[in-house]
Amino acid sequence: MDLRSRTALFCAALALAIAMSVLLRARVRQLQVLFAAFAADVGLWYLTQALFGMVHGRSLLVRASELLAVLMPQLAVRLFSAIVPSHSPLLPSGEARPDTPPRSRLHRGSTLAALPLVALVLSPYHAHDAVRVLLFVYTAGLTGVALWHLAAEGRASGSRAVRARTRFLAAVGALAAVFTLADFLSLLGARLPPVGAVLSIVFLFVLSQSLQSARLLDLYDLAGRLLVATALAFAIAGIFWLFVSWVGAFNTMYLNAVLASIAILVLFNPLQAKVEEYTHQIFFRERFDLESAVGSLRKRLAHVLEVREMSAIVVAGLEQSRRITSAALYLREGGAVQPGGTAFVLDAHLGEAPAVERVEEGSSRTLLDRLAQKHVAIRDEVERELSDALDAGEAHAVAQARELYMRLDGVGAGAAFAIEGDDKELVGIFVVNDDRVRDAFSPEEITLFESLAGQLSTVIENSRAYARVKERDRLAALGAMAAGLAHEVKNPLGAIKGAAQLLAEEVQARSPADDEFLGIILEEVDRLDRVVSSILDYARPRSTEVPPIDVNGALRRTMQILAPAHDEALDLQIDLDDDLPPVCIDPEQLRQVLMNLVTNAVQAMGGRGRLAVSTGYRPRARPTGAIVADHGVVEVRVADTGPGISAKVLKNLFVPFFTTKSTGTGLGLAISQRIVQSAGGMIDVQTSAGVGTTFTIVLPANAAPPSSREIVPPESAPRSSRPDGRALG
Ligand code: ADP
Repeated sequence: MDLRSRTALFCAALALAIAMSVLLRARVRQLQVLFAAFAADVGLWYLTQALFGMVHGRSLLVRASELLAVLMPQLAVRLFSAIVPSHSPLLPSGEARPDTPPRSRLHRGSTLAALPLVALVLSPYHAHDAVRVLLFVYTAGLTGVALWHLAAEGRASGSRAVRARTRFLAAVGALAAVFTLADFLSLLGARLPPVGAVLSIVFLFVLSQSLQSARLLDLYDLAGRLLVATALAFAIAGIFWLFVSWVGAFNTMYLNAVLASIAILVLFNPLQAKVEEYTHQIFFRERFDLESAVGSLRKRLAHVLEVREMSAIVVAGLEQSRRITSAALYLREGGAVQPGGTAFVLDAHLGEAPAVERVEEGSSRTLLDRLAQKHVAIRDEVERELSDALDAGEAHAVAQARELYMRLDGVGAGAAFAIEGDDKELVGIFVVNDDRVRDAFSPEEITLFESLAGQLSTVIENSRAYARVKERDRLAALGAMAAGLAHEVKNPLGAIKGAAQLLAEEVQARSPADDEFLGIILEEVDRLDRVVSSILDYARPRSTEVPPIDVNGALRRTMQILAPAHDEALDLQIDLDDDLPPVCIDPEQLRQVLMNLVTNAVQAMGGRGRLAVSTGYRPRARPTGAIVADHGVVEVRVADTGPGISAKVLKNLFVPFFTTKSTGTGLGLAISQRIVQSAGGMIDVQTSAGVGTTFTIVLPANAAPPSSREIVPPESAPRSSRPDGRALG
């Protein structure tokens, strides 16, 4: 057998094996069947080429070979059309993409071109040189058109992953086609090495692999797989050789072959794992780098206690790996001690900054739900889901997959991973991407990233525990300081004030300047006294053992005290829900919180505008990480039409001593938050520049509301103060 026939036989065996391997897989759909048919056609065609050298009555074989050649581009045209999903994830209603030539016309045209050729092949003139030339032109032309169409459809795709995949496939396909056609020339007399045959098999392999994982294989990945397959083949051949040729005698050969096969079956999996490991270590350092980079990253993270430090280490470590071009870390807003905001905020990123800085719970529900359920969301997988849903015509699944795809795109994720807290609540999102080869993360790499996300969860949990300890120490220190302050500052202040008042009463002949100075002393002493009292207040330990009270009652009394102080420019609206369950909070302290919020609101509006105070009940609709509320929550909303709060102020709102007012202490909100938190609740802020601000006190209810109302589904529950309408409790 000459080299050409041997190569043809080899390619035939491989192509048929590849066809079988695709059919043996679990999910066989139209695309897989088309591919298997194409690969089988290629395989059989090579088989006929190999048989030419051996068989004598060749006429039938020539006809078979020619028929297979006619069929090949037909199958190629249909297969390539099926590869690019006919719907794009980013087009609103799954319409077919507009600017590519219609597929049906291409299919019809190719069939028409094939018919006369089939007739010629079946006719007595089939072996004529002119027929061969015609066949050559037909195959070359149609294959070219099919590849061009594949590239064009890919280019028009809304998905970058599809674009990259088809570009790669078209390039390898074109290469294989050119060389195969060059092989064809040998039939016309030219003698060329059979490169095309080998390239065609490589192309089939690339195609089969990319159908299998539904993701793009880069050259690098592909070379890895080819190398592993070759190394494995040699290892297996070695085992076979040991068993079969060692013993030698022909009559024991069959037994030996069986023994060798058993040995191979037993050894196959561990052998494959080892061969993969060594091949990757020796030839694919970059991939190995990711493994070692993540390994050392995890080691370093084991000693980290602060989230900020964690982010910096992750970014630096991933940069070293060189495996990804961008990464981002989103953490639940609200910080380590009191996480509970409604969004995940970009904390650190590597490479190009993602388009989305805040992943809002409301608008990104699909992404967050997917992460909560599966811990990982891979863009390419979502794209495949979308394509499946479109094929199945499931409108809901289509909408969901498209939404998820866009969210992943927004955060720049080839893959996004959940970072979960102890209670399985999502505390962050970790996102990676490789721009060079879109979505080309192998399952092993995904597992590596998952392990990293797991470690990040641990660091965040530890940092929370650490922050709580620090907070406790801080409060203890604050308590000690407050005791000192009371004694060392409050007492002298009292003395100064007394002395100043005495002076004011005793000295009769005072100049206007003296009066002014005395006024300043008294005013400033009062202010200092207020600050010190507030600090004491802030530091005072809060008892949580208080009997349940009626929030509406406390609110009415507070408003009675405050109302006379405001003039008519203020439009005060009070809207109380009469069916409120009781909550456990010290009424005095609740009043203090309300006073703070109302005073702030009135000051923010400069005394004129609309101040709306309302209460409401919200049944437990969904667990929130921030508060535990078995009976639902009571909300008190204080809404103003002031200027709103800027992002910078918002960040420091609850920080003690942070104020934007010349006479403010900056302790009002800090104290309010402490009071509400020690009652098991939280304060939520929603603000919009130029429109106003709403502060919402959320307190866990002590019992079900008086009238045992139906549990209201979240959509129809009373309007939440949160921007996304998310139900609390
Ligand atoms: P203080 O009122 O003494 O400044 P707070 O802790 O009560 O201290 O408030 C801190 C800061 O928060 C205020 O200085 C103000 O800038 C901002 N702030 C609070 N409430 C509002 C509001 N309703 N509208 C606009 N800004 C507000």
